[in-house]
Amino acid sequence: MKTATATATPIEQQPIRVLSDLVAEQGKCVGAGVNAENDPWFPVTQLPGELEAQARLACSGCPVVASCLEMTLRMEQGLRRMEVEGLFGARAPHERIALLRARRGGGAR
Ligand code: SF4
Repeated sequence: MKTATATATPIEQQPIRVLSDLVAEQGKCVGAGVNAENDPWFPVTQLPGELEAQARLACSGCPVVASCLEMTLRMEQGLRRMEVEGLFGARAPHERIALLRARRGGGAR
């Protein structure tokens, strides 16, 4: 488990390796017995409202939600819209796309 020193740095400034280690060590979904039939992080529905609710439910109580979201946003930079999938950091794909656009200084489309 990472020490307070590692987490005292703002998440936006932490190396992705640190974020990845935190998620791997403490992520609620890690080792949750997820398989193709019961995976709540990759729901079949594509309705935005349902995805948002599913994301919040799946990631609720996760101790590393902020680290997971930051790591995921960095990994998804440069991906095409259709390549952003699944629920990470309690955010649905369309929510992460909006966050990525905001980081680039672009408005909602
Ligand atoms: S925030 Fe959600 S997707 Fe990320 S590690 Fe936690 S449970 Fe998994």
